[in-house]
Amino acid sequence: MKNILVINAGSSSLKYQLIDIDTETVIAKGLCERIGIDGSMLTYKPSNGDKVEIQKDMPNHEVAIKMVLDILTDAKVGVIKDMSEIAAVGHRMVHGGEKFSGSVIINDDVIEAMKECIPLGPLHNPANLMGIAGCQAALPNTPMVGVFDTAWGQGMEPSHFMYALPYELYKQYGVRRYGFHGTSHKYVTGRALKLLGNPNAKVITCHLGNGSSISCSVAGKCVDTSMGLTPLEGLPMGTRCGSIDPAIIPYLMKRMNITAAEMDAIMNKKSGMLGISGVSSDFRDLGAAAAEGNERAQLALDMFVYAVKKYIGAYAAAMGGVDAIVFTAGVGENDRAVREKVLSNMEFLGVIPDVEFNRNGPRGEEICISKPESKVKVFVIPTDEEMAIARDTAELAC
Ligand code: AMP
Repeated sequence: MKNILVINAGSSSLKYQLIDIDTETVIAKGLCERIGIDGSMLTYKPSNGDKVEIQKDMPNHEVAIKMVLDILTDAKVGVIKDMSEIAAVGHRMVHGGEKFSGSVIINDDVIEAMKECIPLGPLHNPANLMGIAGCQAALPNTPMVGVFDTAWGQGMEPSHFMYALPYELYKQYGVRRYGFHGTSHKYVTGRALKLLGNPNAKVITCHLGNGSSISCSVAGKCVDTSMGLTPLEGLPMGTRCGSIDPAIIPYLMKRMNITAAEMDAIMNKKSGMLGISGVSSDFRDLGAAAAEGNERAQLALDMFVYAVKKYIGAYAAAMGGVDAIVFTAGVGENDRAVREKVLSNMEFLGVIPDVEFNRNGPRGEEICISKPESKVKVFVIPTDEEMAIARDTAELAC
């Protein structure tokens, strides 16, 4: 049994999963919340037992990781005898800039390169680095692997990733499209290629969740992706505005007399589904409100569906066709109404949805929601970023 510990460290939280990579099963998983804040809590769920919650001070990530290791090896509720049963640690890394086009073994050079990318990922990269430091302190001899959210987007051609700003701004400040959710797009694309039985297929992947992005690829190589320098670009999301006329930003900053940070907060936290509906960022709430006649909730949903359709059309044109469309993540996997609306009136593209099966098919498993005669296959594929990280980690470190 080879166990991989997968760590996803945020600024005040840390998600973890212990995965037996030989059988690809999750042995235990959980979350440390409110790290460095009053009221820290660890939750732990072993696959063979009940959920455990521990409230204890976690002043930093190092303490949080120590608590995770303690509970994983606990005599009563633990799932492994000692740390030697952890073969390697895989870290989710958010922004690798142009330095990483694939997963890497973490060493001093990688950590230095991650630090250089902090201006590109000012919230996420320091948190990822704290997660690594915490693991290195607790598991000094265990190999660690970094799996980057931005690695997938490194497959794009310059004409697809450049913004038409002065070229020097790319060279000097790294301003280009990087894309995010790369681990998810790569994972579901790989599954779609398998389901199609065609490793060279043209695939559009719709990762629709609280954060949403759409990507397209030929033969598993990214051609384009909707998020940009930051995760703000592209589709309207739970609380993010997605793509807007960039001139709106200086216009509003002047009219409202607000700072760049205040403008940033409006675009990231108060916009999107929440900003339009005034109801919620959650699609379940929006669906319920729209069903009761809330026009702004309906408007938010309509805007989202329209944006997804536009990307699918644009990417089909960019690739010169499409063999499969994939829906994944919280909304893509669960919101049947959004999928139905996105797929309506797409016969011209060769998409013939199986409306009944989309409405009634099972949840939580890979399903095909297009009719057999549909030229373009449409799949719902549950994403599994942790498993993708564990696989890369085992491949490089075990
Ligand atoms: P994620 O970011 O992938 O975890 O997705 C979270 C989002 O998925 C939530 O904010 C909801 O909007 C959406 N979601 C989850 N379950 C459902 C569901 N049963 N129906 C509609 N939307 C859902």
